[in-house]
Amino acid sequence: ELMKREEVLRRAREEGVKFIRLQFTDILGVLKNVAIPIDQLEKALNGELMFDGSSIEGFVRIEESDMYLRPDPRTFVILPWRPREGAVARLICDVYNPDGTPFLGDPRYALKRVLEEAAELGYTCNAGPELEFFLFHLDEKGQPTTITHDQASYFDLSPIDLGEEARREIILTLEKMGFEIEASHHEVAPGQHEIDFKYSDALDVADKIMTFKMVVRVIAQRHGLHATFMPKPLYGVNGSGMHTNLSLSRNGENAFYDPDRPLQLSEVAYYFIGGIIKHIKAITAVTNPTVNSYKRLVPGYEAPVYIAWSCRNRSPLIRIPAKRGPSTRIELRSPDPSCNPYLALAAIIKAGLDGIKNKIEPPPPVDRNIYELSAEERKALGIDCLPGSLIEALQELEKDEVIKEALGPHIYEKFMEAKLKEWHEYSTRVHPWEIETYLVRY
Ligand code: ADP
Ligand code: GLU
Ligand code: MG
Ligand code: MG
Repeated sequence: ELMKREEVLRRAREEGVKFIRLQFTDILGVLKNVAIPIDQLEKALNGELMFDGSSIEGFVRIEESDMYLRPDPRTFVILPWRPREGAVARLICDVYNPDGTPFLGDPRYALKRVLEEAAELGYTCNAGPELEFFLFHLDEKGQPTTITHDQASYFDLSPIDLGEEARREIILTLEKMGFEIEASHHEVAPGQHEIDFKYSDALDVADKIMTFKMVVRVIAQRHGLHATFMPKPLYGVNGSGMHTNLSLSRNGENAFYDPDRPLQLSEVAYYFIGGIIKHIKAITAVTNPTVNSYKRLVPGYEAPVYIAWSCRNRSPLIRIPAKRGPSTRIELRSPDPSCNPYLALAAIIKAGLDGIKNKIEPPPPVDRNIYELSAEERKALGIDCLPGSLIEALQELEKDEVIKEALGPHIYEKFMEAKLKEWHEYSTRVHPWEIETYLVRY
């Protein structure tokens, strides 16, 4: 660790870095920045930089406002879109209390705790996200709209894809920042895109998801577009998901792979799936944390609705991609990119570990298209639904001690408080659809 610190100082010097952005993520998943001039870097690396935590929504009470940032040296990277002259770098930080203990409201710490629990069982957790987003036009005043002029669709490479130039530059920028991009394409909806990067350990991936969103927004803006990770910005077309691929490794080997078992999935993989399925309703409050999230989780738009798993088709909540060997993994299809990636991964992995610890058997896989089953057939197969709204999901979270423990009491309380307020604000407002439907009829 000391070595790394020296390395950061050396690289900052060599690259002529003038400013550092110290970053961390709040409970609602918003990236926060504290900018410091380069002469403060050494102090920052020693964890001696203080900031006022009470200025951050839902972080701390006024009386405990002094917080310390401890940068993780592994997250040092130059921001490629800033001028080379007087370069800007960033470091992702852990948040500490004045007494030197980790701050319990820090989402990164919540994820670290769950990963430690996995490490105690001998596992490393790998995650690979597939982030989808929309690129929209700005109006004459520079305000974001929900208008997209491109008529392109899935895998379309025609010149009318106006977002393509932006996507290209997003990828080049991410690559300069150390991302290994595996795939990128236009998604099903107009103006919708997906960029996939290579999986790595869950903490690194959560950091990368935050960086990814920042890069997409900044580069889109430079192309005169507005990027949004809102799950369902347009009625009648697909929303944006964040499929999360997961696997465990043990001593460098994929612990989900077992060539001698049914589906070539290890017992550990089965239990991991069992744990996720058991806790999925509460997890949903964390992986789909906005009112809008539930407008994506409806039939007809490639997003999951039913709680089931399958190797065969893409309709269920958990799909097992065909690849085996080192690529053996599960794909959880419910998360959306409005989630806090630290908390989402903490909740999902915690559930999987609960499955392993308590040998939770998953229900049998469902290889039929669930959307074609009748309600009775689903009932006979014991297939339940994901929560239908934010409030339902929050009620499930309230009942689930395992997922609450993944967040820890501090984050759980702040999260609940903020989300209940959000739900209340939404549900007491009169929606345009209601006016259209009821104003004249009644
Ligand atoms: P699909 O098209 O099947 O939905 P993609 O190929 O678009 O999936 O995305 C695959 C994602 O899964 C990538 O992020 C990839 O790095 C990741 N992945 C591959 N192998 C593993 C693994 N063993 N554990 C976790 N994630 C993995
Ligand atoms: N956009 C879809 C969703 O909401 C997913 C499409 C896909 O399979 O990539 O999850
Ligand atoms: Mg996709
Ligand atoms: Mg996918």
